[in-house]
Amino acid sequence: CGIVGYIGTRPASNILLEGLQKLEYRGYDSAGVATISEGELQCVRAKGKLQNLQDKLAGYENLARVGIGHTRWATHGKPEEYNAHPHTDTARRLAVVQNGIIENYRELREDLKAKGHKFLSDTDTEVVPHLIAEFMKNPPHHLSPLSLQSLFLEAVRLAANCLQGAFALAIICVDFSDELIVVRQQAPLVIGFGQGEFFCASDTPAIVPHTRAVLPLENGELARLTPMGVEVYTFAGDRLKKFPRTLNWNP
Ligand code: GLU
Repeated sequence: CGIVGYIGTRPASNILLEGLQKLEYRGYDSAGVATISEGELQCVRAKGKLQNLQDKLAGYENLARVGIGHTRWATHGKPEEYNAHPHTDTARRLAVVQNGIIENYRELREDLKAKGHKFLSDTDTEVVPHLIAEFMKNPPHHLSPLSLQSLFLEAVRLAANCLQGAFALAIICVDFSDELIVVRQQAPLVIGFGQGEFFCASDTPAIVPHTRAVLPLENGELARLTPMGVEVYTFAGDRLKKFPRTLNWNP
């Protein structure tokens, strides 16, 4: 029900947790974060209050500079830890958080299972990391020019075109650890512009402690966040010229 993401120069973990706290008002039944550090994906999830997630994370030092976080309001699959986001692909190279509902997840799931993907949850969301991984492993012939920039970005774009329903997504990949990709279709997603650091969230309260320069994505758009900047594209792969606006915010 709430998404946050960070890419930049500071340790991501605390920024993600604080962001999730700001989105608690939206309601949730479980929470989780995924980060990438030294070529490894770390994914920690917990049922219930954010405090449970915080307790689990307290054990180790996490210096990752990129990550995503989620508070879940279950629509498909019980509110249990194995259904909590982030969800990963079979090889655990990708992590995905989602708000909303993927309506055609059953067909996609059967198709991906037949291709050897192993599913670990009952959620609609889990098809997304598997689908992106499939596009990265077996790229179709009709790749758009985005693939020259990043196969990760192109695989996310191709996956977004296969999904029906309402979804906001934030995605990271161990093999592209200086990228955070976000997608919007009928569920809110806002990007925050800092100095050498960028944020995403389903609502501005998670972003304003860091920056007031924000850009809400429109339906049918995806964006690639790196420590150098933000690029916005349509689902067709066309680059859009977009600039952040400054929020007037009275806390
Ligand atoms: N449909 C997804 C699930 O049940 C996401 C729900 C949400 O927006 O939190 O896991």
